Amino acid sequence: MTITTTKVHNFSAGPGILPQEVLKEAAASCLNFDNLNLSLLEISHRSKNYEKVMDEARAIVKELFEVGDDYEVLYLGGGASLQFAMVPYNLMRENGSAAYVNTGVWASKAIKEAKIIGNTKVIASSEDKNFNYIPKGYDIPGDADYLHITSNNTIFGTQIKQFPKSPIPVVCDMSSDIFSRKVNAKDFALIYAGAQKNMGPAGSTMVMVKKDALGKTGRKMLSMLDYQVHIKGGSMYNTPPVFPIYVSLLTMKWLKKNGGIAWIEKLNQQKADLLYNEIDRNSLFYGTVEKADRSNMNLCFLLNKPELEPEFDKLWKDAGISGIRGHRDVGGYRASLYNALPLESVQVLVDVMKEFEKRLG
Ligand SMILES: *Cc1c(COP(=O)(O)O)cnc(C)c1O
Repeated sequence: MTITTTKVHNFSAGPGILPQEVLKEAAASCLNFDNLNLSLLEISHRSKNYEKVMDEARAIVKELFEVGDDYEVLYLGGGASLQFAMVPYNLMRENGSAAYVNTGVWASKAIKEAKIIGNTKVIASSEDKNFNYIPKGYDIPGDADYLHITSNNTIFGTQIKQFPKSPIPVVCDMSSDIFSRKVNAKDFALIYAGAQKNMGPAGSTMVMVKKDALGKTGRKMLSMLDYQVHIKGGSMYNTPPVFPIYVSLLTMKWLKKNGGIAWIEKLNQQKADLLYNEIDRNSLFYGTVEKADRSNMNLCFLLNKPELEPEFDKLWKDAGISGIRGHRDVGGYRASLYNALPLESVQVLVDVMKEFEKRLG
């Protein structure tokens, strides 16, 4: 079997780009996994070979986040969206409360679910300016059970650069910037991420939770929605999403092999600087987000003259660029510079923007 692919510069917001070598190894494992002459897709998740995958996939998250055995790592189905419900269900006491910061579409969806579970206070929001900045300097109620924040807002292109100092446990949706930069993971009681943005393929969601945050709700818990049940089952209470977990493991190993978080943070900064500098320099474009809060993962920009979009679109498509159309809530363009996107792809986009200015500026 030969698989050939032509070079595409993939700026997709999600599911997003994965390293080529990961895709090749994942493809091979579909035919012959671990020299078993069986596909990874047709063996028991209880087999020794797969248990090793699960153990490694759980351990490497703790290694990359530099946390100890007071944390547990789970891989669950249902996307990050199921975590919008599981977080309050597992952490908000009956008659307790939770504090949320609203920084965009995903945070709003998290708030909607939490309100169904219990007393949910939105303590800060950037909705007044179509979520183009990160609220700062807000008061965190000391009597709430937890604070929920979203580290990177995939749709609006903002990112928390300095996490708030909190008197209560902090929960963070890191779906679109997990492992893109150094964070002090010990400051968080729970981190979750749908894998398909920056960690692996769609189908599994990573949850890393501090054990002592659990078991306090007073609620009678449904098994499948109970983190403690999944922890007890070694993240295999039921059949886990075996293939997405395996490909996530390969992607994390790729990250580690190449130099880990320190390496990728530097590269991601280089990529973001390259494109933001061009957005600011080029007379035909402008960025949509307050500069201090600009995301290094999802870079949103618009044309000064939207009527020129068809011409710009032709130029970048001809250059082999894919996936930079903006989300319908923002319009214009969004380039997602996830970990696996090489610097060269950003350079191609920048060259296209320069060429466009030369022709039409
Ligand atoms: C994509 C995304 C989600 C939703 O993820 P699903 O896996 O589709 O449920 C949640 N939060 C953020 C920050 C996202 O980028």
